[in-house]
Amino acid sequence: MRIAVPTETKQDELRVALTADGAHHLVQAGHEVLVQSGAGVGSSVTDADYTAAGARVVADAEQVWAEAELVVKVKEPQPSEHRFLRSDLTLFTYLHLAADRACTQALLDAGTTSFAYETVRLADGSLPLLAPMSEVAGRLATQVGAYHLTSPAGGAGLLMGGVPGTRPAKVVVLGGGTAGRNAAQVALGMRADVTVLDLQAPVLASIDREHRGTVRTVTSTAAALDREVAGADLVVGAVLVPGARAPRLVSDELVSRMRPGSVLVDVAVDQGGCFQSTRATTHSDPTYRVHGSVFYAVANMPGAVPVTSTQALTNATLPYVARLAALGGARDLEALAADAPLAAGLATLHGTLAHREVAQAHGLGW
Ligand code: NAD
Repeated sequence: MRIAVPTETKQDELRVALTADGAHHLVQAGHEVLVQSGAGVGSSVTDADYTAAGARVVADAEQVWAEAELVVKVKEPQPSEHRFLRSDLTLFTYLHLAADRACTQALLDAGTTSFAYETVRLADGSLPLLAPMSEVAGRLATQVGAYHLTSPAGGAGLLMGGVPGTRPAKVVVLGGGTAGRNAAQVALGMRADVTVLDLQAPVLASIDREHRGTVRTVTSTAAALDREVAGADLVVGAVLVPGARAPRLVSDELVSRMRPGSVLVDVAVDQGGCFQSTRATTHSDPTYRVHGSVFYAVANMPGAVPVTSTQALTNATLPYVARLAALGGARDLEALAADAPLAAGLATLHGTLAHREVAQAHGLGW
């Protein structure tokens, strides 16, 4: 199959859908890989890297889309890319169609077969193509939190791990899922005093086992949350209730009782945020103050580390790209029937929607 990788066009998007190693893997499997010139620059992958991997570098977006049978991307097609969609094309990318009527309509009008990374699902219900970005966001949350605890960044002036004879920072992580446990791991590595709250006993038990009791685990009740957050220097909000807005767990009144210069990082901002006063910020202006505390609420945290994020994304997507390509783009349902995780990713096929939630979000018939 001819697999094509365009340069991402969404503002501030520096990731690319395939590393040079990923391209090499697909070429070895007998496919042809086309990459738009410059597509990897933001992730430190040069045209020469792709060429050495056996890919063909093409000049511009027109050519890469026109020659493609399967397009792999990072972000949903932007309005300027809608004209490239065709019925004999398969598209594999993060789509989030429920939030994007224009893109949904463009895919339906063009009759493009599309698969969404975020709905590829394993038998245990996990979402393998969302997990790598939660890992990145969780680890980064502690890193940015540590930075914003410093005085020049507006924080309390506290070193995460302290030094002998001083107290370390108290880090409280709300939610012990993929993002939360990664945030906790990094905080522990920095020698902070780390507590994780979650609703699920098995989640707490597994964190306790993993860290042999060096991370405190607490069942997330309103009283426990109030107590832990009030005494925290850094709070990482990483809760998720699948299919729902994030619960608002930290009120402004609770923030008013925290130490001046404490830092609150809301990783769950992309689901509406889990602090009362969360509002989405950007990498160029990431923080604002609530009472005496610093809030950080960047909705696309992985975008700050495109080199890592591109590698992590390709590691996760590559087996599925290879399977889609082996199925010839999977444009008929029979071919897909044997691959349940990929079938769960199907978003549009021959001008129809594959997900009831997307149809309902846009008031389209189902
Ligand atoms: P996950 O499902 O792996 O973990 C979520 C955890 O939250 C679960 O263990 C769940 O039990 C727990 N939880 C739910 N309600 C809770 C409550 N009231 N108190 C304590 N714990 C509670 O989810 P994840 O992949 O770790 O994602 C976490 C959040 O991070 C999501 O909102 C996701 O969209 C977001 N995210 C944001 C970015 C970003 O750039 N800002 C990037 C990736 C992921």
